[in-house]
Amino acid sequence: MASLPPTPTSAYRGRLAPSPTGYLHVGHARTFWTAWQRAREAGGALILRMEDLDAERSKSIYADAALEDLRWLGIRWQEGPDRGGPFGPYLQSKRRPHYLAAWRKLLRRGYLFPCRCSRKDLDAALSAPHERVTTDAQRQTGKLEPLDDEPIYPGTCRHLQGHAPQLPGPTTANVETPEGINWRFRVPDGAVIEFDDHNLGLQRFVAGKDFGDFVVWRRDGAPSYQLACAVDDAAMRITEVVRGADLLKSTARQILLNHALGYRNPEWFHCRLVVDHNGRRLAKRHDALSLRALRQRGLTPMNILAAELPVEA
Ligand SMILES: [Zn+2]
Repeated sequence: MASLPPTPTSAYRGRLAPSPTGYLHVGHARTFWTAWQRAREAGGALILRMEDLDAERSKSIYADAALEDLRWLGIRWQEGPDRGGPFGPYLQSKRRPHYLAAWRKLLRRGYLFPCRCSRKDLDAALSAPHERVTTDAQRQTGKLEPLDDEPIYPGTCRHLQGHAPQLPGPTTANVETPEGINWRFRVPDGAVIEFDDHNLGLQRFVAGKDFGDFVVWRRDGAPSYQLACAVDDAAMRITEVVRGADLLKSTARQILLNHALGYRNPEWFHCRLVVDHNGRRLAKRHDALSLRALRQRGLTPMNILAAELPVEA
């Protein structure tokens, strides 16, 4: 699983995967532009997939705005929610059967365990919580952070088996659908996950040390970002994933998922993140740097893409 399968450049398939939880900012513009350039240079296809699994925060106005902003930048894609294509639907909210099938496969193969820990349990078990992008509202509702900085799981429930008879609470009926409990992937402690990133070079992570048993299905009924992303990249025949460097650890987790599900790994190109003048990563709360705002101030796509912007080291 350490090496990547060679991919003929003529079969290149890249993707743009915005999540419609806010307006796109200059950092997104850089990453998506890079994805487009790489697909174009390879003579390949670009697939737009809307990552709208977070039902509470995803809004159709943001989805529409993302498509408009990308078009305004000059980015074009061959497949997407607006254009259709052979591997649709291209909205994650419409792809639940694919994720359920993958969850069942992982469960049957013994990779998963049911986890009953609450957000509070997990916070209490963590001596040094990582920097979080979780909002207070998410924290209060006990929603799990779907992004890269999921804290290392302390292992409380890891001894539980994910087979129907040993389930601690849910009856067998619950085994056909994962709702009501968190399902975690049991990572092989100490396993080294390496990949050769086309932008950042060799990356190396140790399972159980750099990240722990991660959630693949959340008790609120939604598949995790990790699972949905691995399933969709495989189903959509993506050959190279271009995305932000904040997702490097997610890539390591997805390599484990790909292996467990029998998928081929795509190749990876992680872009350095644009930071603000305080050195902080841009977030969707940086409204002043949204593409909308910059466009209203009269900036052109060229101004935005050619500007010297600070990036994370
Ligand atoms: Zn647990």
